[in-house]
Amino acid sequence: MAKEIPYKIYLEENEMPDSWYNVRADMKNKPAPLLNPGTHQPMTAAELGGVFCDDLVAQELDDTTAYIPIPDEIRSFYRMYRPSPLVRAYCLEEKLQTPAKIYYKFEGNNTSGSHKLNSAIAQAYYAKKQGLKGVTTETGAGQWGTALSMACAYLGLDCKVFMVKVSYEQKPFRREVMRTYGASVTPSPSPDTAIGRRILAEHPGTTGSLGCAISEAVEAATTNEGYRYVLGSVLNQVLLHQSVIGLETKAALDKYGIKPDIIIGCAGGGSNLGGLISPFMGEKLRGEADYQIIAIEPASCPSFTRGRFAYDFADTGMICPLAKMYTLGSNFIPSPNHAGGLRYHGMSPILSQLYHDGLMEARSVEQTSVFKAAEQFARVEGILPAPESAHAIRAAIDEAIKCKETGEEKTIVFGLTGTGYFDMVAYEKFHNGEMSDYIPTDEELEASFAKLPKVD
Ligand SMILES: *Cc1c(COP(=O)(O)O)cnc(C)c1O
Repeated sequence: MAKEIPYKIYLEENEMPDSWYNVRADMKNKPAPLLNPGTHQPMTAAELGGVFCDDLVAQELDDTTAYIPIPDEIRSFYRMYRPSPLVRAYCLEEKLQTPAKIYYKFEGNNTSGSHKLNSAIAQAYYAKKQGLKGVTTETGAGQWGTALSMACAYLGLDCKVFMVKVSYEQKPFRREVMRTYGASVTPSPSPDTAIGRRILAEHPGTTGSLGCAISEAVEAATTNEGYRYVLGSVLNQVLLHQSVIGLETKAALDKYGIKPDIIIGCAGGGSNLGGLISPFMGEKLRGEADYQIIAIEPASCPSFTRGRFAYDFADTGMICPLAKMYTLGSNFIPSPNHAGGLRYHGMSPILSQLYHDGLMEARSVEQTSVFKAAEQFARVEGILPAPESAHAIRAAIDEAIKCKETGEEKTIVFGLTGTGYFDMVAYEKFHNGEMSDYIPTDEELEASFAKLPKVD
């Protein structure tokens, strides 16, 4: 007889993975290399080493090593908030009256409130190991900056965060959490960098953008001795670190002999989804199992579902390497939706390649329906979800309702990436009926695609 499945499947500390899994090792078609924006030649380790820490460059370029050991110091940090629970959503199933079995992996149980801490601690660790003074980064909604400041505080590293000006002004709480952990937080664009001064001169009064903050953070890293730049998503190394999510999920499911049919995650730059699906995708790539894997993105920033698979700049300043990815164009400014963490114009090159090869699907969902799902989930499961995470909830609920119609008892697993306590202005707009669903027109996207760099 099958074991009864508890509400929460916890792993023991000693069951936490001791290596990250690098899905690239099992990909027949590897993600395309990053290119030097000037020469269009693949970026060498030496070139990348000017911007990123050496060990992280090695991880970024490693397409062949399947398992990379997690250093002990990172594992002891992970122990403060990991292993994270895999929850059986019994109450949601009951509410929906669905025969589907729904599970979610909850990554919001740490002060930064999201999965981003899994990579922040790894990146800070390698910077420290290299003897650097500090790291620079950008943050939009603030989750990444918060996670990085926690990691830097733990290791005694300096942390300079360029925060998109509009968030700096509208999200004072996130800003103050970062300062509590000792980070310096600068509103971007700022007069502290050449690129910031140029953008301020060209667009006085601008409220900034993520691409612009990236350019400033990279400049600050390359012009200050002893600093490197770190990025919270998109890059291969970040997906590698986030594989801890998928490895734990798989270990928890295996304990009870559960095999998921559908795996769902929200996709901004692709790091949580890439991490969650990695071990499952590995099995799929090796022909050992099959899963339906679905990326969910906002209809207002639809990189997968309406983007081009092309080389593009990672930043608006056009100083970062070119990455081959599904992109809306680095000039595309998404409308200010309320899932800030999903507002990036591009997508992880690993996930882009997997999607291009038909190994996963993508769907876009509209903002108001996302908040409806968020509220429904909060009322029965108790956790107040981040708007980003609620994209995955929307799709999980939709799939569970389909099961109700067809009578199929599918097992659905989704990533609940974080909590939404700092997003109450968005919830307020939703409750007051003031939330709109902006969807870019084909003309707007075409105008942005026309500016993609020409690479052959
Ligand atoms: C940043 C963030 C995301 C999106 O980023 P990915 O790199 O696509 O995972 C999703 N959920 C939360 C809570 C976030 O903070």
